[in-house]
Amino acid sequence: MNDLTQVVVTPKAKTAGFDALGVAVHRASTIVFDNAEAYATRGQRGAEGYSYGLYGTPTTRTLEQKLTRLEGGVRTFLVPSGQAANSIAMLSFLKTGDNIVVADTSYPPVRDFANQDLVRLGIEARYYDPSSLGDLERLIDDRTAMIWCESPGSTTMEVQDIPAIVAIARRLGILVGCDNTWATPLNFKPISHGVDFVTEGLTKYVSGHSDVLMGSITIARPEHEAIFTGFMGRFGIGVSPDDASLVLRGMETLGIRMQRSFQSAAAIVAGIQAHPLVDRVLWPPLAASPGHELWKRDFTGASGVFGIVFKEGCTAHISPALDVLTTFAIGASWGGTRSLVAPMPVRLNRTATCWSDPDIVLRVSVGIEALEDLQTDMTNLFDDISARTAKGRTGSGDSRSYAQTISRTGE
Ligand SMILES: *Cc1c(COP(=O)(O)O)cnc(C)c1O
Repeated sequence: MNDLTQVVVTPKAKTAGFDALGVAVHRASTIVFDNAEAYATRGQRGAEGYSYGLYGTPTTRTLEQKLTRLEGGVRTFLVPSGQAANSIAMLSFLKTGDNIVVADTSYPPVRDFANQDLVRLGIEARYYDPSSLGDLERLIDDRTAMIWCESPGSTTMEVQDIPAIVAIARRLGILVGCDNTWATPLNFKPISHGVDFVTEGLTKYVSGHSDVLMGSITIARPEHEAIFTGFMGRFGIGVSPDDASLVLRGMETLGIRMQRSFQSAAAIVAGIQAHPLVDRVLWPPLAASPGHELWKRDFTGASGVFGIVFKEGCTAHISPALDVLTTFAIGASWGGTRSLVAPMPVRLNRTATCWSDPDIVLRVSVGIEALEDLQTDMTNLFDDISARTAKGRTGSGDSRSYAQTISRTGE
């Protein structure tokens, strides 16, 4: 063979007998076929077959299958982010004239997507109180095609009655989607409670190392497979095998990371719950957290993400006081090995419910560092907020203008 050909054509090294535990990264756009007949009939290879890199590689299929089993669904689709999972789950099904009824406490970029893009397509977005089945039923009409849930809700942590919502939807022939990013399939399995599809921000706990963005949609019904496959292909949506391999690798420690985050979060919450600056802590394992009884009934555990509602007088001092933290980092997203805090505005992301508490909730994501260092950090933070509150210093401004400044930064 000519050298110029040899540098292009690669010999196939033997793979038989090479049973590595790690999942190989299969990179491909082109997939070649044994003969012209195989190429001509590639469209008939089915969900398991390979025809083009965009439609799946052994690496992405491995991750899809792993998630499908955990969720108890029939098929999983990987997408470039958790937000894409939510928007694609909606777009694949909704059509002009439909309406979608969305939990008021949904991830804020989901609200943005519904208000801007769905509305532009002639799909109305209505928001319901996530804790009120009556409110949900009141908003449903014969044009309602989908109910969107997120349990617990972003920032304010309301656990929803998914089985009851599914019962309403079934009776009326409406689809139910649920964003399960906080719980992960280890702590809640929405499909086993009857939802039609579940989305995950794999970016968070499942990948777990704050270095990759990915989302998944797992479907519960075989008849939806062709709808999603078609939509994803026509829109050209897929993920890289390198990213899928990072998620596969991170996922192996999901169980112990979640357990560790939960245990450390429980210890931290116990230490701050009764602090004079704290109004309440929003975390489903706590009896006073909204939907706690539903969490106890339907979930098998909790993650280490919770919200702190401070008393009215100290809200303005939270943000400047964050600078004393040394182990906790300040940043968006959560669910990684590293502990994070982020002050979250609530009111401007609520239209169906009334948030009458102070308008910054401090979201805390507890990672896997030594608990002692995290507790020291928390003590220093609370001491600093106390000192600032006592002195009446306002730091970088009042909480309202701060909420407005960060409102459009999404996650
Ligand atoms: C972060 C988050 C997402 C989006 O995940 P990305 O991969 O960052 O787009 C979706 N849903 C919830 C509840 C989230 O917290």
